[in-house]
Order: sequence, then structure tokens, then C-alpha cells
Amino acid sequence: MGFRPFIYQLAHRHSLSGYVSNTPQGVELEIQGREGDVHSFFDAVKSDHPPLAHIVSVEWREIPLKPDGGGFEIRTSQRGQERFTLISPDVSICSDCQAELKNPHDRRYRYPFINCTNCGPRYTIIMNIPYDRATTTMNRFVMCPECQREYDDPINRRFHAQPNACPRCGPKVWITDAQGNTHACQDPVQEAVSLLTAGNILAIKGLGGFHLAVDAANHGAVTRLRKRKHREEKPLALMVRDLAMAREIAHVNEVEAKTLCSHQRPIVIVRKRRTHALSPQVAPRNKNFGIMLPYTPLHILLMGGPFRALVMTSGNMTEEPINIDNEEALKNLGDIADYFLVHDRDIYLRSDDSIVRVIDQVPRQIRRSRGYVPVPVFLSQALKDLPPVMAVGGEIKNTVCLTKENLAFLSQHVGDMENLETLQFFHLTLSHLKTILEIRPQVLAHDLHPDYLSSKYAWEQQELPTVGVQHHHAHIVSCLAEHGLRGPVIGVAMDGTGLGTDGQIWGGEILLADLVSFKRAAHLKYVPLPGGDAAARFPWRMALMYLHRAYQESLFDLPIPFVRSLEPHQARLVLQMAEKGVNSPLTSSCGRFFDAVSSLLGLRHTIAYEGQAAVELEMCQHRTEKGGYGWRRRSGDDCWVVETEEIVRGIVKDIIKGESKGVISRRFHNTLIRMFTDLCALVKDESGVDDIAFSGGAFQNKTLLTGLSRSLIARGFRVYSHAQVPTNDGSLALGQAVCAGLRYKGAKGAYP
Ligand code: ZN
Ligand code: ZN
Ligand code: FE
Repeated sequence: MGFRPFIYQLAHRHSLSGYVSNTPQGVELEIQGREGDVHSFFDAVKSDHPPLAHIVSVEWREIPLKPDGGGFEIRTSQRGQERFTLISPDVSICSDCQAELKNPHDRRYRYPFINCTNCGPRYTIIMNIPYDRATTTMNRFVMCPECQREYDDPINRRFHAQPNACPRCGPKVWITDAQGNTHACQDPVQEAVSLLTAGNILAIKGLGGFHLAVDAANHGAVTRLRKRKHREEKPLALMVRDLAMAREIAHVNEVEAKTLCSHQRPIVIVRKRRTHALSPQVAPRNKNFGIMLPYTPLHILLMGGPFRALVMTSGNMTEEPINIDNEEALKNLGDIADYFLVHDRDIYLRSDDSIVRVIDQVPRQIRRSRGYVPVPVFLSQALKDLPPVMAVGGEIKNTVCLTKENLAFLSQHVGDMENLETLQFFHLTLSHLKTILEIRPQVLAHDLHPDYLSSKYAWEQQELPTVGVQHHHAHIVSCLAEHGLRGPVIGVAMDGTGLGTDGQIWGGEILLADLVSFKRAAHLKYVPLPGGDAAARFPWRMALMYLHRAYQESLFDLPIPFVRSLEPHQARLVLQMAEKGVNSPLTSSCGRFFDAVSSLLGLRHTIAYEGQAAVELEMCQHRTEKGGYGWRRRSGDDCWVVETEEIVRGIVKDIIKGESKGVISRRFHNTLIRMFTDLCALVKDESGVDDIAFSGGAFQNKTLLTGLSRSLIARGFRVYSHAQVPTNDGSLALGQAVCAGLRYKGAKGAYP
């Protein structure tokens, strides 16, 4: 990661002699010089190290002076002798490379693959270890003498930069039409800009996969892209030239700006301006845009075009993994894109753009992928003896996790495990991570759900013992792991769905938990989930269930639009299905409760993408409303059960009274916040525990996250929520890994 050249140059600047080398223990330095120089050298190591270096710890001791100090050298290490070194994520183009890219006198002027030790592709081009040119997809490009000189020179910015290349010796770009015929042109990048300006859809090969791009201000083109991609309403990501342009189309605060400009360059969710001059089809019915800045030299060249913003959405058919291969992209995206801007630097491992949302001044991962992976989550030192675990994650937003000592390597976003392509990507990610991280797992961790493809995979691996971890316990453990905590905590899991230990579908839970075990302390009262997990696609079914719980048969007499909109025959069928328990497990899901309310208010009866009903319910809120609805609790078997009928009756009454959706939505949010605050207080009184951990997909809701956390802090709780890893199922694997590793070692939790 450019660490040794950095040390080399720094030592020279401080007139020190000695050496730097990689050893099995880490980076070893021997330094000799005047005392003041040595100290300022060490200060500079800590404060000025390269952006990609992560110093975990520094140990030093004094040794006798060597009579002849000599110079300072980089000692090359023997292959195989090196300690397991962390593999760098892909990093956005650095400012030095950007300057060269724009300098007409530089030999890499306008070269789309310019990079150095501080920037460029890493994780996505590594095929094996040790990390060396020969084990990357750059292996088929032979460096020209000039590039080779840079590569061999310890004080050059390109010393051992594996993807080093130039126009003479490196990868090239070209354009094809949708049939794969080369589109003759002088300058493919300039031609791509012209094609985009003319309203064409381009498939553009990037760092971790293909994007589908159109001019975001061209309404016809954006609409055509949606239609061809079969993506009806889910917001499309945007790329803008720079921060100033981001601020022209959206409100960007300081933390958001810093995140946008960080070397990870994620998509950042920011609030749209009222006037932005982009097509309303970019993010219909949504108050936000997902924006990113250019992160490769190719992007920078493209963004030199005359557009305010480009739509840059993943190059895939909805729900399939992002395309990475030229042939594969032509086959799969040929019906969507008019032209393809491709290149011959292969992508070995796909990696989607990461997505971050800043809430309460904290950048929080929604999808942790390109730019962040494979940087490990550093677990507490107390977990140093954890056996190597492989955790296979959940079903939607799947990621996997491998551990080594107290490092947890959470994979990039794999996706929703519902098609063959994603399953293959899942297999590749697991085997690839095992290889490049040199991890031989001793135990496999998985969800309890027998139908998850990830669980099935785990059970098929005969040679390894398996440990099942309950979905919401895994959620809470992932939050503890992220914060280096052991528990016990009061875990608030507000989620979509996950299988509980009683065979029902949980998702609105308070758990007393530590890293190893848990006890269910409270949950939302069960309602039937007609059609099982498929119910998530039909919020109206949940609304019907909740109404039936509150009013039984007289629900059909309620003078509200929702009831009038019901197709009576269909409604009867669903009620019967629920009553007879046909494919209707019971659920305490918080996400499904949001769905029900969204549908009751007439916002969404069915959804076009996961979470849409809840998202639109959150967005319509009236922000100053203070009211709420009543609720009751009763003690069930060994834990508190929250009855929700009164909330539903309150909402119906408000609808009849003609209250606005915004007011009702806010009252609903307020109610949940007050309810969970009271429940936490109750659980604290019983248990004495006053640390709280939040996890689960419903905490993507900003109002819920900030409201509940403030309300609990005001009652004297310490509250921990996710930032580094997603609060949704994207971090289940992390929780599974830690819990399973400890249980495998025989650790006993506080909650047998
Ligand atoms: Zn660079
Ligand atoms: Zn070259
Ligand atoms: Fe979940």
C-alpha cells in the first residue's frame, strides 16, 4: 500500500539510516539518527502515512548504535516470509494522478487507466496471492521500459504499483454497438460523451462492474432506461462532476461532502433541491438523490462532457449481480444499452458501488462494497483467540464473513439469493476470500432459516461443523462487534423478517443479549403473514391483517378508502388463508407493520422495490406533529408482548377524521419511539442492563433511528447503532461469525 516507499522517503528526509522490511510480525523498521529526528520521524509515520495504510499498533525498543550508520534501504522480503498482509480495497484516483491526467505534457495525458500506489484498482483485479502483477488481471500487459523503471524505483510514486500502465503498454478502451461490432472512432472517450449527449444509453465498464449511463437531464433517455431495465420506481444513482455540481442539485452538508469526496467515493444519499433540472424519473416519489463523484480516470474524462449529471446505475437486470465481463455484458445488457464503452482490463471480482447515508452527522453504510471491502472490521482484542469462522449470511442483501484472529472480513454486497447468478457469485466470493486471506475456517455459521440458500449451502459442507445463529441475535451481535462490546445489552431489533426460535417470523424484538446468547424480552404481537415472505410485496395484505386484528369482521364496514379499495373476493381469500394458517406463519415484524400503515394510508398497496412502502411512509411525515397513539403491553410466555390494535384503531379514527397522511405517519413514528423507549426502560428495571444496541433494516428509517436514540439517551441509556457496517441484513454474517466462533469455542453466554 505504498508504505515502504513512504518510510524510505521519510527516513531520507529526516537523515536517518537503517532499513524497512516486511516480516512475519509485520513491518519492521531499524532507525538510527539524532534523537529529535527519530521522534519527528515517528510522529510523521503516524500522521502522514499513505491514505491506504492502516496502522493497527506500533511497538518499539532501543537497540545499540551501529558504528557505521550508512544509508537507508528497503529490504526485499522473501516470498512466503511475509506476514499475511491486508489487501487493499479499490481506491479512487488520487490528486497526483488527476493532475497528470489533465496535463497535456504528461505521457499519461487523458489515459483512462492512470494509477499509482495511492490509487486505482486492487480488490477487484486480484486473482490470487501474494499480491503481485502476475496474480492480477493486469498480468497480460507487459510494462514498457518507462513503466518498469517507475515500478522498480523505491522513491517513485509507482514503486510496486501492480496495475501500473501507460498508453503504450496498458489497457485500452473502445466502443461497440449493441451487437458487439466495434464502433469506429478517433477518441472512444470523446465519442462516448457525444453519444451520451445525444441521449443514448451506454453500458460503461468501470472498476467493479458495468454501469448503465444516460444523461440525467434527458427525460426521454432516463424513461427509456427505466423501461428497458424493468426498473419502475427504485431511485437511480447519479454521478456528478464535482462537489459544486452535487450542491446544485442537492443539499449537501459538511459530513456528506466529506463522504462524497473520500477516497472510497460511495454513493451518498442526499436531499434533492426543489429545482434541479434533472428528469423526475431519476428518483420518482422520493425526496433524495443517491449521488457519487467520479472515482476512476475514465469517469473524470466522461464527466468532462456537457451534462449536469449522469445516471450511473448498476449494469444488471434487476436483482441479478452486476455484469463484469465484456461478453457477458453484451449478452445481458444488449437489450438495454445502445452502445458499450468497454476495456481490456478484466474485473476478477465484481463489487457494486457502496451506498452511505449520513444520519446524526455519522456516515452510515447501507451497502458496503467498493472502496471499503476487504478492509476488515477490527474486533475487540479480547476476541483474538476466535477460531477462523466462515459465516454465510442471510438471504437478501447477502454478504459473507471470514474471521482471522480478531479481524472480521465482511465481503462486498453479494445480493439477493434468488437466482443462479447470485448463487454462483456467492460461491466465488467465499472461495476467493478464503484464498486471498489464507483462511481455513474451522466452523461455519448460518441463519436458522431452512429455506435460505445460504443455510442450505452451509449444511451441504459436510467436512465442517455448523452453528446456526438466530437472525436478530446475529443483528445485535454485529452491532456489538462493530463497537467492540461484549454485552450484555438490551438489543432493539427492528427489522423486516427473520426466523425466530419458536418457528415464527420475528422482526420487532427486544432481546437481552451478549455475543453468545440471548433471551427474548419483548416483541410486537403476532399477526399472520399471509403468503409468508411474499407478503412483503403486498403491503395491502398486512393492512388487512392488522385491521382484522383490530376490528374482526366489522372491518368491512369501516368508511375508509383502504377498505373501499379492497377487492372483496381477494380479501376473503387472504383472510381465509391466514385463519387456516395456510402458508401463513405468524410475524412480529416491524417492517411489516410499517407496510400495513403505508397501505392503510393509501401510499403503497403493492411495492416496486424492497422497503418502498416504509420509505414512502417515512417521507410523507409532518415533521412538527407531536401526537401519538395508545398501546398496551401484556406479559406473554416469559416476555412482554405489545398489543398493536389500539394503534391501528387510532390510525383508522384519524383517517376518518380526515387527518393528513403526514400527521398520521408522524404519529405512528412517535408511537413506536415512545413504545420502544418504555419497553427498554422496563427491561432495564428487570435486568439492570443499560447499554442499548440497535440493529435491523427498519433502522434505515432516519426518524426512527434519531428519535429513538435521543429518547433513550434522555432516559440515561448508552445507545449504540451501526455506522461501519449496514444495519440491514448486509451485516448478518458479521454477527453470525462472532457468535458462532465463540460458541464453537465453548463460550457460555449469560442467557442459557
Ligand atoms: Zn494515484
Ligand atoms: Zn507503459
Ligand atoms: Fe434482518
